[in-house]
Amino acid sequence: MKILVLNCGSSSLKYQLFDMKGEVVLAKGLVERIGIGGSLVKHTKGESSTVHKPDIQDHSQAIKIVLDLLTGPETGVLSDLGEITAVGHRVVHGGEKNAKSVLITSDVIKSIEECVPLAPLHNPANLMGIYAMQKMLPGVPNVAAFDTAFHQTMPREAYVYGIPFEYYERDRVRRYSFHGTSHDFVSARAAEILGKSIESLKIVTCHLGNGSSLAAVDRGRSVDASMGMGTSCGVLMGTRCGDVDASVLLHIMELGSSASELSDILHKKSGLLGVSGVSSDLRDVEKAAEDGSERAKLACDILYRSVKKYIAAYAAVMGGIDAIVFTAGIGENSDLTRKSVISGLEFMGVKLDDSKNGGLRGKEAIISADDSKVKVLVVPTNEELLIARDTQRLAK
Ligand code: AMP
Repeated sequence: MKILVLNCGSSSLKYQLFDMKGEVVLAKGLVERIGIGGSLVKHTKGESSTVHKPDIQDHSQAIKIVLDLLTGPETGVLSDLGEITAVGHRVVHGGEKNAKSVLITSDVIKSIEECVPLAPLHNPANLMGIYAMQKMLPGVPNVAAFDTAFHQTMPREAYVYGIPFEYYERDRVRRYSFHGTSHDFVSARAAEILGKSIESLKIVTCHLGNGSSLAAVDRGRSVDASMGMGTSCGVLMGTRCGDVDASVLLHIMELGSSASELSDILHKKSGLLGVSGVSSDLRDVEKAAEDGSERAKLACDILYRSVKKYIAAYAAVMGGIDAIVFTAGIGENSDLTRKSVISGLEFMGVKLDDSKNGGLRGKEAIISADDSKVKVLVVPTNEELLIARDTQRLAK
């Protein structure tokens, strides 16, 4: 079975083609700057990559180019598009109706359309990918894997905000949280690495990247997660603010910012970038802190502290904790972040082994001391593989 996984952003498209026999990636790539001029396609087949610069106006055209690359004489890995058994789509928002991955039908499309107001940048792009595949590969099943689905197991007290209840009932204002595929993948993988059943474990998963969220995964089910109705709350991120008191937002508006300016401030000008004034990239901020920048050091400290607080909070929510899992760009690569976050959590039975924590780059590892009651792991995330697996299962 060959499965194509698509992740359509507002002006980008990531793709991976899997041969599910052995779960091998046959080809993958990234299309950037769709519809905004200067389009760029990076296509990788095995070890070799090629870069193409066609003019791409929309997602439909981008997908056509991807399909041509997958079957082309030099770049191709398929002799015929008929070899593609099914297509898996990452869909950001599935609302309350979609609690797991589903085969795409007209009802599912309607439910994704209904969630456009909740994810105005992402869901329309995801839909464009679905429409284009339906047109270009008629008869091939399409599957949607939702970023929100894994968190649909949260209890009401975790997702209803303390505001008048009609906003939930009427307007669906609630916590949804995101990165669900990643939290699902790394928690399940952590259980495998520990040789334990996921049903026996209480895990806090820390997806720390440019966007970050934590989840409390109690026996395989998400029972709380740090992002909210949108993607700006929780821990400090690259350019997003993390938790901020509502009064701060009202005050900024009273100072003269419009709603869209405020949104820009919270999503694009805050986080590591906003506090440090240096960069949204943790590598730059850690380097600036090392070189003596007070604000860069402060930005790092806010990040470490916010992650630490969520870990302890989620241990409390689950009545204990067996494992902490770090993943995504920062979680997988920044040993300083892992060390700073864990430092101070010893009271909970967590003990890091510094010699195991250092020098990991995108590798799975248990980094806690052998006698640590709570295991600490690094598990590289692989959302595309989980989407491919769900797609294979549902397409069968
Ligand atoms: P992601 O969104 O998952 O690609 O993660 C991007 C983030 O990971 C950026 O803030 C990067 O600075 C960070 N990152 C990647 N590699 C490292 C590293 N070696 N040390 C610190 N941060 C890193």
